[in-house]
Amino acid sequence: MSDGCCSTTTSLELEQVSLSGDSSALPVVVIGAGPVGLAAAAHLAERGIDFLVLEAGTRVAAAVAQWGHVRVFSPWKYNIDAAARRVLAATGWEAPDGEWLPTGEELIENYLAPLGKAFDDRLRLGAGVTAISRLGYDRVRTNGRESVPFLVRLDTGEELQARAIIDASGTYTSPNVLGASGLPAHGEDLVEVDHALPDVLGADRERYEGKHVLVVGAGHSAATTLLGLAQLENTPITWAIRAGSATRTYGGGEADALPARGALGTRLHALVESGRIRLLTGFYAHTVTPDGTVISRDPSGHEQRVTADRIVAATGYRPDHSIASELRLDLDPILGSTRALAPLIDPNQHSCGTVPPHGVDELAHPEPGYYAVGVKSYGRAPTFLMATGYEQIRSVVAALAGDWEAARDVQLDLPETGVCSSNLAEAQEQRVGLATGISGGLLSTSLPLVSVTEGGGSCCG
Ligand SMILES: Cc1cc2nc3c(=O)[nH]c(=O)nc-3n(C[C@H](O)[C@H](O)[C@H](O)COP(=O)(O)OP(=O)(O)OC[C@H]3O[C@@H](n4cnc5c(N)ncnc54)[C@H](O)[C@@H]3O)c2cc1C
Repeated sequence: MSDGCCSTTTSLELEQVSLSGDSSALPVVVIGAGPVGLAAAAHLAERGIDFLVLEAGTRVAAAVAQWGHVRVFSPWKYNIDAAARRVLAATGWEAPDGEWLPTGEELIENYLAPLGKAFDDRLRLGAGVTAISRLGYDRVRTNGRESVPFLVRLDTGEELQARAIIDASGTYTSPNVLGASGLPAHGEDLVEVDHALPDVLGADRERYEGKHVLVVGAGHSAATTLLGLAQLENTPITWAIRAGSATRTYGGGEADALPARGALGTRLHALVESGRIRLLTGFYAHTVTPDGTVISRDPSGHEQRVTADRIVAATGYRPDHSIASELRLDLDPILGSTRALAPLIDPNQHSCGTVPPHGVDELAHPEPGYYAVGVKSYGRAPTFLMATGYEQIRSVVAALAGDWEAARDVQLDLPETGVCSSNLAEAQEQRVGLATGISGGLLSTSLPLVSVTEGGGSCCG
């Protein structure tokens, strides 16, 4: 059979018939054992659906482990999935205090590791997925496509088959670049640029203490890094943001429903006001020279320069859809989420607390049976919360079980963040003068996150 322009539909159909098989007996493959992938395992187990979780790292929640020193801003009560809680309760697990803000390591130790253990017969560590397709079908072939199994290729070359794919592989391994226009700054690849979130008070301390550090970015990662650096002696700090003011990074202050986040935004503001942190606004990273000078060139051509010993690019994350490039995806051209989800999570309009409930209908791609969930599903939108991911997964698994009523009954009960609402951010700007007496001391050696990006509202960018 020829593959060229003149192949007939009939010949394709004949080949497809011989390849199609019953995929319903195959497991659902979950990619990634982070909070959302493991929650998927809990929901699949409760629904009695066979599954296999594939995790690239050598431990569960390998991405969370990379920011294990960071204390999150949402308390335990928002960070535990309901089905996971039930699975763990049956093992004698004791739930942590719902009001406590865990670090990334505490999330793993007290929740994700025990959850992974509950499924250790259906969890493979060190199993990185490099590609997904459909058995015998490339992206172009249509007839009978939905009835053939998914093909999952691992980094070892091994291939597995699946009845459906839940892709919860996150975005942590694909950080945004330093360059202000979304392209790498000239020379960015020739110098050492650190990505968020270095452990500046712990494992990475020696690399930062006593150095002039430039932090680029206006999201929570930048804020968290800045608050840590401010505790190091003889360590000059420059903070560069594209926006004309840092109001959004300072966040909702007392109006923030997640108090740790509001208070720390206020503390960051105080550090800037006191001169401990030098803030450069309107900074558009354009070129990096080998001596560590970052040159900003704004749209009008105006230049600013900073020479630093260390550069931290805390510019957020973007999704990498390359493993699914042989599947039929319908991606929003701006965010890289599904098109249906994009208006609901748009950081120009929403904070993580105002994202409306969404589930299987908003997450569906033209490729039946493939769902990107969790932080990956949000693409470049930094408005993701674990709680949102847990509701996504409840809905998707209900749909896989054929329970469409439950799948479509999506609900979210999230705190109103305040930080991403321009009204609240502006109110905070007026109030913050009252708070400049707050010292730079921190609650603990682990830093709670501060929220908000310069692009609008956010939680986790
Ligand atoms: C510093 C930080 C703080 C945050 N704080 C909060 C907070 O307070 N509250 C909140 O609700 N949210 C918070 N978030 C946002 C979000 O909830 C977390 O990023 C969360 O970890 C996302 O869960 P996930 O399961 O979607 O993805 P991840 O946690 O990123 O997990 C993805 C997993 O997939 C694995 N993987 C990746 N590629 C592959 C592959 N090809 N094959 C197999 N496995 C793969 C990774 O190793 C990883 O274990 C925070 C995020 C960050 C970065």
